[in-house]
Amino acid sequence: MAATAESVLKPDHGSSRKHFIFTEEHDRLRESIGSFVTKELAPHAERWEEEKYFEDWVFPRMGELGFLGLSYPEEYGGQGGDYYANLVLAEEMPKAQCGGLAMGIAVHTDMATPPIHLFGTEEQKQNYLAPCIRGEKISSIGITEPDAGSDVAGIKTRAVRDGDDWVINGSKTYITNGHRSDFIVLVTKTDPDAGYDGFTLFLVDMDTEGVIREKKLEKLGMHASDTALLAFQDVRVPNEAVLGEIGKGFYHIMWELQGERLIGAAGCVAGAQYCFDKTLQYAGERTAFGRPIGKFQVQRHKFAEMATKIEAARQMVYTTAWRFQNGEYPVREISMAKLYASRIAVEVADECIQIHGGAGYMREYGVERVWRDMRLNRIGAGTDEVMLEVIGKSYGL
Ligand SMILES: Cc1cc2nc3c(=O)[nH]c(=O)nc-3n(C[C@H](O)[C@H](O)[C@H](O)COP(=O)(O)OP(=O)(O)OC[C@H]3O[C@@H](n4cnc5c(N)ncnc54)[C@H](O)[C@@H]3O)c2cc1C
Repeated sequence: MAATAESVLKPDHGSSRKHFIFTEEHDRLRESIGSFVTKELAPHAERWEEEKYFEDWVFPRMGELGFLGLSYPEEYGGQGGDYYANLVLAEEMPKAQCGGLAMGIAVHTDMATPPIHLFGTEEQKQNYLAPCIRGEKISSIGITEPDAGSDVAGIKTRAVRDGDDWVINGSKTYITNGHRSDFIVLVTKTDPDAGYDGFTLFLVDMDTEGVIREKKLEKLGMHASDTALLAFQDVRVPNEAVLGEIGKGFYHIMWELQGERLIGAAGCVAGAQYCFDKTLQYAGERTAFGRPIGKFQVQRHKFAEMATKIEAARQMVYTTAWRFQNGEYPVREISMAKLYASRIAVEVADECIQIHGGAGYMREYGVERVWRDMRLNRIGAGTDEVMLEVIGKSYGL
């Protein structure tokens, strides 16, 4: 078609067209989660940050609204949705302005419960997954130990068979929800001579004799989440507590980590976008040398750089999520998305502090909190360096 004065295309910066993975149903879900988060969670954020604990009622309330089982089957109380529904949750939670809350919920919905759904027996699904979806039970997941984090195969927590039972000894650290959880998905070594085939997962009730919730750990950010050092001393559990296949726990947990990393990446994009939006508004209001600071070219370019990074990360997350939802196991791309989104979220938050000037360093503006909270993502669920190893090795190096 020849261009005429009337038909010349104008850039559509205000287009609200959604990504093709999302349907109108996702839009409605986004609206309802966003409204809940803004009305019922955000008003408590400041207090929860101060008290370093978000209140447990959040779980049953979110369960009642159906937000804890968005992609789980209806027979366990879930909503029967797809993986993109979980992305919507991860993208809306940052509106609470409380990273620790978003993390505590994500550990429950996207880290501790997926292995029960995929590997659990029917009885385990009824006893653990269904109450988690209702928000009646709170979950945690224990991989990291004082002497082994990145090197998952180096964990020392041992589970030894004793008749019909297993006896567990060891310790776990940095465990999110560790103080509040009713049970933990625990990674143990059951056969130290079997290499990667010597690991087994267990569902351990936290009130079992010998489970000790030790220190509540103090952190740089994510203040509203509770982070525990846990000890397991002669903890006796029945054989029914084995989750998945005996000896296959390493592979089970590597699978779990893929969903955890992708949802973490989605949270990073959302956190960065939140910080960007807040700062864009500030840059339009704050004046210096007679004009809004956003009108200085150097500042304008900062926004352009940030927006480009956020959009690139978002596209990586969505495309990888599409592959994940469609039955692929794109470990390389998940690692790339996790690495890139975690890095740009910290870069964006840092730049947003800079654009705010002194206000950026003040707690009341909230951008320093985003920076502190986001910083975790370059460490948790696999560090930048571990992601680079996974990506590099995927090319046969
Ligand atoms: C707030 C918070 C919440 C967490 N929640 C949980 C949870 O709920 N459950 C859980 O199990 N864990 C949790 N973690 C633990 C987290 O996953 C680990 O901290 C992370 O995997 C890194 O392990 P590490 O701390 O032992 O570091 P280390 O493994 O000791 O690594 C130290 C440094 O060495 C580098 N390094 C290690 N190996 C290599 C290598 N091969 N090549 C190059 N560099 C390398 C790392 O990248 C890092 O920079 C949490 C952590 C934090 C901080």
